[in-house]
Amino acid sequence: MEIKAAVTYEKSAPFKIEQIEIDDPRDNEVLVRIVGSGICHTDLAAREQMIPYPLPGVLGHEGSGIVEKVGKNVKRLKPGDHVAMSWDCCHQCKACRSGMDPYCEVWLPTNFAGLRSDGSTSFKKDGKVIHGAFFCQSAFATHALTNETSAVKVREDVPLEMLAPLGCGVQTGVGAVFNSLKPNPGDSIAVFGCGTVGMSAILGAVIKGCTTIVAIDLVPERLELAKELGATHVINAKDTDPVQAIMDITKTGINFALECVGNPNILNQAVNSLGILGVCGQVGAVAPGTPVTLNMDQVMNGRTVKGIIEGDSVPEIFIPILIELYMQGKLPFDRLIKYYDFDDINKAVEDMEKGIVIKPVLKP
Ligand SMILES: [Zn+2]
Ligand SMILES: [Zn+2]
Repeated sequence: MEIKAAVTYEKSAPFKIEQIEIDDPRDNEVLVRIVGSGICHTDLAAREQMIPYPLPGVLGHEGSGIVEKVGKNVKRLKPGDHVAMSWDCCHQCKACRSGMDPYCEVWLPTNFAGLRSDGSTSFKKDGKVIHGAFFCQSAFATHALTNETSAVKVREDVPLEMLAPLGCGVQTGVGAVFNSLKPNPGDSIAVFGCGTVGMSAILGAVIKGCTTIVAIDLVPERLELAKELGATHVINAKDTDPVQAIMDITKTGINFALECVGNPNILNQAVNSLGILGVCGQVGAVAPGTPVTLNMDQVMNGRTVKGIIEGDSVPEIFIPILIELYMQGKLPFDRLIKYYDFDDINKAVEDMEKGIVIKPVLKP
């Protein structure tokens, strides 16, 4: 079948919208007509080849849409179902069997190889291979092939395009707080970087009853929004040292810090702002081999630094919870979204990079 997709041909190249061919679903796959497709920094990191992904290929890993066709072994989904797509894992290794799916032994090849697990590709153009299967979806397109296991069925009384960023950004931020840091009511948390992940972490911290929520960023408009979403304090790191400012606010250091940028200096600041027994989570993606300098004495005093992938979430369980919280008015993640026509993908990326928009969602 012919579809329209935003193809990345080479490192740093703008997205090129083209007609390409997509396969029919294999036995375990579903074909989804995409209605919303969020843009995440990981797409851009892959385009820059900071994260290895074979090109030419189709990126995009926050797709929501309607199931059009299902393979013959698909049991949970049928045509017409509304789904939010996420990543996939093997569902068999020790991490997967213990509910820590993002730490699956084959998570990287499953989501970044650009191929199905049997080595085949789902896209072609003029007989040539276009890589797909980015996070098991490649959602910068009008249609995506995904495994049954990475398409989460969602309720149908919510605007479907709005659910796109649940598959990565929102799930990562809220999940980092709910599933990984697990603050108690009254605890304090500092969020370094107020993109989708950071803002979602702030929303999660409000739900968890954190009474000191510090947002750190460089863009005044983002800090303003962070305040509206529940941050009790905001720090512009352009003109203020965040570690000193956090010490002034908390006196003894913060209970939890979350690094959402992927910058060694910021991880250093996040760890230095912790109080005794404090925990720092790192969710910002970095290139493999990125070194960081930490004060070992600071860490030794009962502090913890932990990496967090996708908010330690199991999408099939967590995405419906996020939707319920939204419906109850507790998780207004729609405030982060700005919609763009699919053809305006390069403009959407530009606006995101400038910090004008937090979560661009394309409407293919
Ligand atoms: Zn696994
Ligand atoms: Zn992402």
